[in-house]
Amino acid sequence: MKNVWRPTLTTKEALAVCGSLSNPSKMPGHGYALPAQRCRLGSLLELIPKTVCHYCYALRGRYLFPAVKAAMEKRFSSLSDPRWVEAVSTLIYRSGDRHFRWHDSGDIQSLEHLRKIIAVSWKLPRVKFWLPTREYQTIEAYRRMCGIIPPNLCVRYSAHVIDAPPPLQYGLPVSTVSSYPEKAPAGTHRCRAAKHGNVCGRCRACWDRQVKIINFPLKWPSSTFRITGREVGK
Ligand code: SF4
Repeated sequence: MKNVWRPTLTTKEALAVCGSLSNPSKMPGHGYALPAQRCRLGSLLELIPKTVCHYCYALRGRYLFPAVKAAMEKRFSSLSDPRWVEAVSTLIYRSGDRHFRWHDSGDIQSLEHLRKIIAVSWKLPRVKFWLPTREYQTIEAYRRMCGIIPPNLCVRYSAHVIDAPPPLQYGLPVSTVSSYPEKAPAGTHRCRAAKHGNVCGRCRACWDRQVKIINFPLKWPSSTFRITGREVGK
């Protein structure tokens, strides 16, 4: 019989190590949010109009509240803690979630960070994990070293540029963002959360490795922006 992992830390001990899980309102379970300002690639892309990061929701709104920023910084500084895997696994295990999203804000910081995320996935085979990322190079480095992606982890590469073709060349699931529905690539699963109160409801497409391309509508900021030559009002 396979050894089943059980937490060795109390919830209080785990919280002291890795901080709290995040609670993205759209999702069916918890997440783990890091400061978007710490994104290695995203913080550069954010400076470039037409990139998805330029419109990143995690650089705005409630993500800028001092308490939220402090919680994300605490998580960020905990990544090097040797008990991080045990602590995060403990919190997810105790949450009872069956679906977990990495990084409703932020992204992978290093190969070591990726290895830790993968270790959490191996510990919790009954949980489905979704890891959206722009850090293709880190994932590809891991794969070149014959690293295995656990079956319960859906690594999904995010296209960097709005209306750009999906980055399918790596053979992993992907997501794209379109400024208008007609610009969504053919054959994609289009996210309809915005039409249903901005929640996933029963949809779990992002966690499903068989769903190769997911398309998100661009969330226009409240002010008027110009992206494709068409001006869009409030
Ligand atoms: S595609 Fe489905 S699972 Fe993904 S964010 Fe949209 S509603 Fe949620």
